[in-house]
Amino acid sequence: MKKVAAVLLIVSIIFSLNGCHSAQTNGTTETTQAATTATEATQIVTTPPTTETLPQETVPPETEPVFIPEWTEEERQRLWTPLCESFIYLRDLDMSTIVCQVPLGAELLLHEWQGKFALVTYNGRQGYVTANYIKPLDTEYVTKRLTVLSPATQYTYDQMLADMAALQAAYPDTVAVSSIGKSELGRDIPVMLVGNPQAPNHVLMQGAMHAREHFTAWLLMAIMDHSLSAKLLSDNVCYHVIPMSNPDGVCISQSRTLNGSQTEIYQSDLSCGYTSYDSKTYAQKWKSNALGVDLNRNFPSGWEESLEHPLPSSERFRGSSPLCAAESKALADYTQGRHFSATLSFHSHGSVLYYAYGSKQPVNDLSYSLALAVQQPTGYRPIGGYDGTSGAGYKDWAIDALDIPSITVEIGSNNTPLEDRDLYNTFARFEAFIPAIDQWLND
Ligand SMILES: [Zn+2]
Repeated sequence: MKKVAAVLLIVSIIFSLNGCHSAQTNGTTETTQAATTATEATQIVTTPPTTETLPQETVPPETEPVFIPEWTEEERQRLWTPLCESFIYLRDLDMSTIVCQVPLGAELLLHEWQGKFALVTYNGRQGYVTANYIKPLDTEYVTKRLTVLSPATQYTYDQMLADMAALQAAYPDTVAVSSIGKSELGRDIPVMLVGNPQAPNHVLMQGAMHAREHFTAWLLMAIMDHSLSAKLLSDNVCYHVIPMSNPDGVCISQSRTLNGSQTEIYQSDLSCGYTSYDSKTYAQKWKSNALGVDLNRNFPSGWEESLEHPLPSSERFRGSSPLCAAESKALADYTQGRHFSATLSFHSHGSVLYYAYGSKQPVNDLSYSLALAVQQPTGYRPIGGYDGTSGAGYKDWAIDALDIPSITVEIGSNNTPLEDRDLYNTFARFEAFIPAIDQWLND
């Protein structure tokens, strides 16, 4: 199917370097256009993507001819392209050996996601590229799969409320919005029910419990928007989606602003030597609620042993008692009052799935099978045991106290808050997520 164009590397490199600036300009334009429909608060920050940096000596000289493939129509739907300034690396199937450089504008046929990598075919050869250094060749890939939402890595509380209302208006028979309670600062914590309320299965999904991991709120909303518009939902399940369990914290992280008690917490952390960040960076990396309680350390299971930080802080303070925080109490009350078939907590980052807590059965085995079901479309790898919280997390409590199969989904690769470059692969991994959950419920 593929013919050799007999173009030597030197030509391809010259071509790629010549194409570098115009391709980069196109990439920036695309991002800006995508954001113009959103409010300023939800615009994608157009930070120029950087090129992967690896030791230069690990890059072998490219001496092979470049194949110009003739894609089928089905394959054209799976074409991705480098998202960088000049080139990315193609790794061998062992993931560590670098095979060649992939220039800007190159066409990569996507096969599957695996952890932080994507398995692709480039130049007639399969190999791995870093997942957040590629984007779909089709610049409308994300927007054409969404009806209400716009692409955003700074997804605000107000935008979420507006999008929930718009989804409810667009799908009045399938979407209902209510509140699970109020945050410490009095913000409603909305829950969006998607699907048949009389369904035999109910699944809870929650995100942005950790403030700086606010991209999970956009992702959960995007998953539901896409699933509604693509008609992926079945009558078998009703989803209870709480995209932003910690709205006060998200506002702190996104505004990079500390108020009142947060300023005192910052001073305390500074004096304890717990942080050396300036106040804006400290606020941006905030994980806790507005009072300095880490909500994912405030749940009863394992709370006694969870003693990482003795005082209110931007992260890792468990609170004065289990469920002392308004947000964790609201989430616990909402979970306890219903018979959920599963809970999924969305955090970042790591590109992994945590599924275990304690040794109770069969809930731990069922959690593992849920993780395997989610691994299928996302490529995130299941990991048992330690989930970064040392117990006292929501998932731990749902497994331990309520016997609900539960997992933590850690999206993103390298940094939190996520970068703009993480949006494309993260969104694409979850396109077939809802059918995978449906299948798991049926098995
Ligand atoms: Zn987290």
